[in-house]
Amino acid sequence: MRGMRAELERLIAEIDRFHEEIRELPVTPRLSSAEIRGRLAERYDFTRPVQLGELLPDVADLLRSGIVHVTHPRYFGLFNPSVMEAGIAADGLVAAYNPQLAAASHAPAGVELERHVLRFLASRLGFDPDNATASFTSGGAEANHSALVVALAARVPGFVEDGVRAAPAPPVLVASSEAHDSFRKAAQVCGLGREAVRVVPAAEDLTLDPRAARAALRAERADGRAPFLLVATAGTTAAGAIDPLPALAEVAREEGVWLHVDAAWGGAVALSRRLRPHLAGIELADSVTWDAHKWLSVPMGAGMLFCRHEEAVRRAFSLGETGYMPGSIAGLPDPYATTMQWSRRLIGLKVFMTVAALGEAGLEAMVDAMTELGEELRRRLGAAGFRIANRTPLPLVCFTHPRLERGDPTAAEVAARVQAGGRAWISSARIGRGTDVLRACITSFRTTAADLEVLVDEVSRAIVG
Ligand SMILES: *Cc1c(COP(=O)(O)O)cnc(C)c1O
Repeated sequence: MRGMRAELERLIAEIDRFHEEIRELPVTPRLSSAEIRGRLAERYDFTRPVQLGELLPDVADLLRSGIVHVTHPRYFGLFNPSVMEAGIAADGLVAAYNPQLAAASHAPAGVELERHVLRFLASRLGFDPDNATASFTSGGAEANHSALVVALAARVPGFVEDGVRAAPAPPVLVASSEAHDSFRKAAQVCGLGREAVRVVPAAEDLTLDPRAARAALRAERADGRAPFLLVATAGTTAAGAIDPLPALAEVAREEGVWLHVDAAWGGAVALSRRLRPHLAGIELADSVTWDAHKWLSVPMGAGMLFCRHEEAVRRAFSLGETGYMPGSIAGLPDPYATTMQWSRRLIGLKVFMTVAALGEAGLEAMVDAMTELGEELRRRLGAAGFRIANRTPLPLVCFTHPRLERGDPTAAEVAARVQAGGRAWISSARIGRGTDVLRACITSFRTTAADLEVLVDEVSRAIVG
């Protein structure tokens, strides 16, 4: 490890240079997979050691030319953020100290750092931190999967010991057609089966209609199945729609099912006084998913699962004695016994340090600034002849154009043309009953109004061909 300082200084210089140049870099990869593979085959047969001083710039160069730059100010993509310095520093510290978060007694400082910031975020959701539990996960998909398993443990007698076959009737969950597909994946891999996700078509405004949710729960029961979970989304992935949480909470309570709110991206709204009313009712959920690696500008992966039923979480994930794990600290749950993972890095330090470095006011300003840019983008697109296809207070704009509506060209073709140009990145999405739209989300604190102008220009030119 001698000479580490020189290597770290090189690393810091590299990151600094990347940040200085990011605005000028193409958003999309310049190297093809075949070119990357060729370069790796040529340089790395692993027969001789390569000095870090040589390795680092070469790998950095591959990353520079071989990925979609999600931290670019004109990446209008899939909730992947630019990252704050505090998050980068935190990941460096975590790599160096390598704390083991499986057992609390192995990393009390790690567990307390995570607990401290999770309690703060839980309180912002309206949860009582003294009567709730929260954990970091690899991402939103793991958080949703965990919520599904906790709800099964809580609502299906015998599930923890004997699995789904213990259930007197087939357990099913109800979710909107706009809900994230991670629920279908979770149902598929946990033994419920994908068909256990009973899909309710979203309403015209892309939200889940509480009457339709209630009707679906009752129809399932009438057909001999046992609904145990209702999934609501606060900020859908395709269109940023926020389901009517208070009414869905009432449906869940009256129908006796668990309510999970997936706020993977939209959870950040809880940090803005202006936007928080849109999340009203989230505090009534049994569990909530929120990704710090989306709107909180924290490096991937930093999912979070908040739950109001600590005992259910413990039942879902603990095994009793294991024979080799270190003893626990009284009153402090061991992460390996309350989450899906076992050996685990200190995921939450980048969240702790980013929240601490920005402070409450800084977090709110970041969320509000991106929200205002979303409004600005809607105005500019409207002025340029586009039609806005979604209604949301969040900075996610789905839009179309008379030519797209005729399929000449298609939304996917336009997105591909914009991406190939390298000046901006947007995607296409299918929303509602099969409407194809262009989708632009503000995900970077680096984005300015001038970047929006570039996007509108690029899309307008791509439509013409
Ligand atoms: C992104 C997203 C997920 C999945 O989260 P990952 O962090 O990608 O695993 C789940 N739900 C919603 C609503 C999302 O937007």
